[in-house]
Amino acid sequence: MIIAERKPIDEIYAMIKPFNKILVVGCGGCVTVCLTGGERSVSVLAEQLRLKDNLEGGSRTFTEVTITRQCDAEYVETIRTQAADADAILSMACGVGVNYMTEILDDAITLPAMDTKALAANIRSGEWAERCAACGSCMLEETGGICPIARCSKSLMNGPCGGTQDGKCEVNADLDCAWAKIVVRMEKLGRLDELTELSPPRDWSTGRHGGPRGMIVEEALMDDDAEE
Ligand code: SF4
Ligand code: SF4
Repeated sequence: MIIAERKPIDEIYAMIKPFNKILVVGCGGCVTVCLTGGERSVSVLAEQLRLKDNLEGGSRTFTEVTITRQCDAEYVETIRTQAADADAILSMACGVGVNYMTEILDDAITLPAMDTKALAANIRSGEWAERCAACGSCMLEETGGICPIARCSKSLMNGPCGGTQDGKCEVNADLDCAWAKIVVRMEKLGRLDELTELSPPRDWSTGRHGGPRGMIVEEALMDDDAEE
């Protein structure tokens, strides 16, 4: 899932300051699962902004709404009228939501209340950790299922940097060295010798690794066509 963290209140307040009527929009997707951008978070943020605005002598209004997903036009359309009535939308979704609301509601100004962090797994209650950098060309079969792009601090593709200390990363000793983990894993699988093969540089010209990426699922396209 995508994880995103709310920006500090002062930063958000500075962003909304030029506007009077603010529509705070939550997202019921990933950010609800990681407890940062759903209905409850919208309510907390709107209340904090009201209090802060009061203290600053402002008279801004903060309207709250949460839609199922901000990355889906069908749901974004449901707030078109509310958006038209607001001076600015404050989005509590990941960056995909902010971009897509800007695209769909293009007369409105959409501002980001969140910092999007990563594609992450829920390690334990309340803790998420990055496990994929969405590189567009998965090579986990070469590294025993452990991603060197997302999990090595330097995204090294061909073995450790030499700074590994007792299985920990030299950049951040709280983190396991991804390459130490890969070596242990490949040894366990009896595939250690495969790590002597060099991974070639990535070909950025193909569109598979770089640039704005997307995908088309033909089956879903046909379903949509049939509905029209
Ligand atoms: S190689 Fe890593 S970053 Fe790329 S798709 Fe696989 S898990 Fe994600
Ligand atoms: S110590 Fe390991 S995880 Fe850290 S940067 Fe070097 S190779 Fe990557």
